Amino acid sequence: MSIQARAERLDHFMARAADAYYAGRDPFGREGDFTTAPEISQCFGECLGLWAAVTWMSMGSPREVVLAELGPGRGTLMADALRAIREMVPDFAAALRLHLVERSPLLRQAQAAKLGGAVAAWHGDIADLPPGPAIILGNEFLDALPIRQFIRRGDAWMERHVRDGAFVELASEPGLPLPAEAPEGAIAEYGEAGRALVAALSRRLASQGGAALFLDYGPAESGLGDSLQAVRRHEPVDPLAEPGSADITAHVDFARLAAAARETGAAAHGPLPQGLFLQSLGLTARASALAALDPRRAGEHIAAAQRLILPEGMGRLFKALAICHPDLPAPPGLEAA
Ligand code: SAH
Repeated sequence: MSIQARAERLDHFMARAADAYYAGRDPFGREGDFTTAPEISQCFGECLGLWAAVTWMSMGSPREVVLAELGPGRGTLMADALRAIREMVPDFAAALRLHLVERSPLLRQAQAAKLGGAVAAWHGDIADLPPGPAIILGNEFLDALPIRQFIRRGDAWMERHVRDGAFVELASEPGLPLPAEAPEGAIAEYGEAGRALVAALSRRLASQGGAALFLDYGPAESGLGDSLQAVRRHEPVDPLAEPGSADITAHVDFARLAAAARETGAAAHGPLPQGLFLQSLGLTARASALAALDPRRAGEHIAAAQRLILPEGMGRLFKALAICHPDLPAPPGLEAA
């Protein structure tokens, strides 16, 4: 039997496709497959850098703190964040030790080129981050983690596997966290890898101190439905065809992740729509200041900020979720969330 003829569980397929995809290319930007918030406006990374600085102060300004980014892509977010931090909060710049969690060797090179000596170390997994208080950022990281999918048949859930570019349904094991009732043919998703990662990070933050901030796209409430998607050159393509040739992602189930964080004893704030979050961090004011400094590109700065904030852009579908040590105050932008 060839490997192709074997059915592969969807999350295993997705993990393989994502690793092959990121190992082989720089996918970002107009000429690439998709564009992310830090590649749209420098204000995004600057605001998150200052978010981290205020969070550090709320932790009592520890003399050493791990600043970690998960899935830093080209390193753009962190480059913008560090510039703002050095300018505005030099004591935090001196205290932070920058650690990047990235599996793709090609993207590690891009990050090294952009961030140079600022990076203390790269890691393949969050478990390898050094201990101690930490501030952790992840933009469009969770959506790349593999999900499992189930389809309702009669009064049971069958698990979706992939064979020869198509789904096959196989019996699923009992005891999975799936709804008891669902209409025939309904799809339920289980982001097992994301939940395990968030639970592990939350345990760490609850015992060693600090906070994490995730930004990604997904609904505010959990529900049924198929959110698996693949994008190539800014167009949707079949996620099961040619694994590794397109960016394969799924919506992030923020409500479940917040619950997983709370179960470990950490506090969760959000999810809040990204537009509201960025606006309360002052992104619009920062974009206006840039526009005033650089009148020839004023329109560009304003349009980029609007794309991140407006509901018809990325402002509503994208959400912000913070996970904190239980004694920390609600972090900036999420006070009312
Ligand atoms: N944060 C960046 C990139 C988002 S794309 C931005 O906003 O532009 C997803 C990033 O996560 C890429 O850097 C990819 O290589 C990385 N990644 C995906 N799955 C990963 C995993 N399981 N472990 C570590 N990094 C991962």
